[in-house]
Amino acid sequence: MIEKTAAELSSALAKGDISSVELTRAYLERIARYNYQLNAFITVCEESALKQAQTADEKRAAGDRSPLLGVPLAHKDIFCTQGVTTTCGSRMLHNFVAPYNATVVEKFSAAGAVMLGKTNMDEFAMGSSNETSFFGPVRNPWDTKRVPGGSSGGSAAAVAADLCAMATGTDTGGSIRQPAAFCGITGFKPSYGRVSRWGMIAFASSLDQAGPLSKSAEDAALMMNVMAGLDNKDSTSIDLPVEDYTATLNDSLQGLKIGIPRQHFAAGLGAEVEQAIRDALKEYEKLGATLKEVDLPNNHLSVSAYYVVAPAEASANLSRYDGVRYGYRCENPVDLEDMYKRTRSEGFGDEVKRRIMVGTYALSAGYYEAYYRKAQKIRRLIKQDFNNAFDEVDVIIGPTSPHTAFELGAKTDPVTMYLEDIYTIAVNLAGLPGISIPAGLAQGLPIGMHMVGKDFGEAQILNIAHQFQQQTDWHRRKPALGQEG
Ligand code: GLN
Repeated sequence: MIEKTAAELSSALAKGDISSVELTRAYLERIARYNYQLNAFITVCEESALKQAQTADEKRAAGDRSPLLGVPLAHKDIFCTQGVTTTCGSRMLHNFVAPYNATVVEKFSAAGAVMLGKTNMDEFAMGSSNETSFFGPVRNPWDTKRVPGGSSGGSAAAVAADLCAMATGTDTGGSIRQPAAFCGITGFKPSYGRVSRWGMIAFASSLDQAGPLSKSAEDAALMMNVMAGLDNKDSTSIDLPVEDYTATLNDSLQGLKIGIPRQHFAAGLGAEVEQAIRDALKEYEKLGATLKEVDLPNNHLSVSAYYVVAPAEASANLSRYDGVRYGYRCENPVDLEDMYKRTRSEGFGDEVKRRIMVGTYALSAGYYEAYYRKAQKIRRLIKQDFNNAFDEVDVIIGPTSPHTAFELGAKTDPVTMYLEDIYTIAVNLAGLPGISIPAGLAQGLPIGMHMVGKDFGEAQILNIAHQFQQQTDWHRRKPALGQEG
């Protein structure tokens, strides 16, 4: 049962083939058996999960038919969970117990989903390999010598290894889509503003967006039905009606115009990845779509612009960790300044400190115009590139990452790591929805296909992704881990 999609579990629960308590037990047993190899969970909530499962079974007996009622999920440890440690992968918050639930957490709880625990992540969501976590790296279930991608690597590994049915993540520059690609699952970043950021620990507020990591596009749609919507507690959440994202999954793709971004099929792209994506595009042609090359001429500036904007916002957001209000405080400070200094020196890891320094520099008087304002101008150009492309096509499809999962420790230079997001980062700068779905294997490692939709076109890209998954079984492939019986 545990290998099934959330949609399949939902109908098994509805038919009474299994109870939520049985299902939850099965996942907890699997976590107990495999998490030590993967390090995907920071916290496992055994007792409360079983209690929630029991409640879900009672609600079902009383006639509740919510689709995700009793389906077990995991939350990235960036979402505040009341009464449960919320670490953000950092020493700074290693002992922080949130006093309230993030809106996303609250919504899943109201929908009756069972929270199994909190997943590992790069510290403050800064990273592409999950190696910056204070709690140690996560390992890729397809090959435990390799990284799962980041920063939502714990969620991706947990879903891929069937340690949960579905998981939440956040994506500031690629952190849902790239780990989904590396772990062979579906990862969806909604349009900026579609999902509330309230209670989600802030990294770069104008880029951060929560979304699903799941076993299929259909599951992502089910999760979006719960997650999306206006939240008065988040002034950037958008006041647009929430669609039923499952309603249009089976729409025909006849006449769909797919844009192939020239800049994503250029130097740097691995041959096997390129071949897998080109093969996948042929599937779409069979479904009635047409392909057209499009230009994203400013894409090469996206990583540079992002590494000004994101650190600038991070430096402001992370100023709140001062030893007074949250989490870690250094031992025996001699005075206030000593406390600030040592708390922050000891509480943050190297990558976080690098970002704070870069961001503070970019925002300082004298450099603001040269860096921050220039980056914002580039952001505008990038958005314009997408607008121009969408005048001609309905969706843009390419690779999620130039390569498959790399080995732990393989990328030591920060800039090499930053270039991981070369195909995904522009989507955050433009605020658009993007999804990664499995589209092949190279040397036994998953390849991700990336699709970008128009503003608030979540229903359409979920439809496009689902149609591919109706024709192919890449999303059904499983890592060797756990298959030994
Ligand atoms: N890899 C990018 C970074 O390190 C994006 C991270 C994210 O999307 N949270 O900032």
